[in-house]
Amino acid sequence: MSEPAGILAEIQRCTTFLISVHRNPDGDALGSQLALMLALEKMNKIVTLHNLDPVPEIYRFLPHGDRIRTGVPITGRYDACIVLDSDPPRTGLFEPSCPADTLINIDHHVTNPSSWPHTWLDAHAAATGEMVYRLVRDMGVAIDPEIALCLYTAIFTDTGSFRYSNTSADSMKIAAALLEAGADPWLVTEHVYESFAYARLKLLGTVLASMERSDDGRIAWVVVTDELFRQTGTSSEDTDNFVNYVRSVKGVEVAILFRQTAAEQYKISLRSKGRVDMSALAQALGGGGHKNAAGSTIDGTLAAVTSRVIIEVKKAIAAQLGNGA
Ligand code: 5GP
Ligand code: MN
Repeated sequence: MSEPAGILAEIQRCTTFLISVHRNPDGDALGSQLALMLALEKMNKIVTLHNLDPVPEIYRFLPHGDRIRTGVPITGRYDACIVLDSDPPRTGLFEPSCPADTLINIDHHVTNPSSWPHTWLDAHAAATGEMVYRLVRDMGVAIDPEIALCLYTAIFTDTGSFRYSNTSADSMKIAAALLEAGADPWLVTEHVYESFAYARLKLLGTVLASMERSDDGRIAWVVVTDELFRQTGTSSEDTDNFVNYVRSVKGVEVAILFRQTAAEQYKISLRSKGRVDMSALAQALGGGGHKNAAGSTIDGTLAAVTSRVIIEVKKAIAAQLGNGA
């Protein structure tokens, strides 16, 4: 699916751009953001990047990451704002309003409510990076090695290294074109999967040692508290992908990570093996995401949040798979 004609026309017409992505940015968000900035600059546009949260350590190898401003508030006014890989509220930036005249949202999350006037939502795209690849091509900009590296990182990370069910023939074709354009796959792998802090692996060990599961074995979960972060000298970005180990247990249909974000608040990450849809469940819990990977942030004590989420997951499994073991 290509971008709506209106988006290309607005990009051509506007001169100053603000590009933002979701809080706790991942490889798809950051790779898409930096690639689109580089492409727009090749068209002599003036681009500002602004996110709520800083670039995680493992993504600092991406070129020009130091151009990303962080925190609140946003300064300046722009012809256009482009939100990538997120619905606009999830950037955490635009309260009370976005300082731009033209509002563009490019995303692949099925739960995106398409509230902005120029929304391009393609839930079949494995990564927002695939959509940005198409857009950059239609903008008439040649993909240079830096743009290729950013977009390859976006697709590589959101497909779980081309392993998840969202991986399509198009994902592979675009990735091949990006390698031909100069992306170095090992550079990405080494930074994203082979450069973890020692403390992160110690944290993983502790967290997995306390993994729990439901009586029928179809739900398994882990908890990471502020206290554990303090004890191990780690932070939230060190829990990236922990939930995938929990999902990998035989018999588990749904895995959950509960990560403390405030005294009485937890970020939940939901992962399905493919038979139970997580996106509607996450949306009902105030968040969103995809069929097999979704999340939300929920207020409450650990006991209240875990029991509420596990009950909801049990209900979803029973409704979609029945009660059989
Ligand atoms: P993760 O568990 O890795 O944070 O997120 C899994 C998927 O769900 C990602 O695609 C992410 O963008 C989405 N997601 C996670 N948390 C939220 C949330 O609070 N709101 C929305 N709309 N999507 C979320
Ligand atoms: Mn994404």
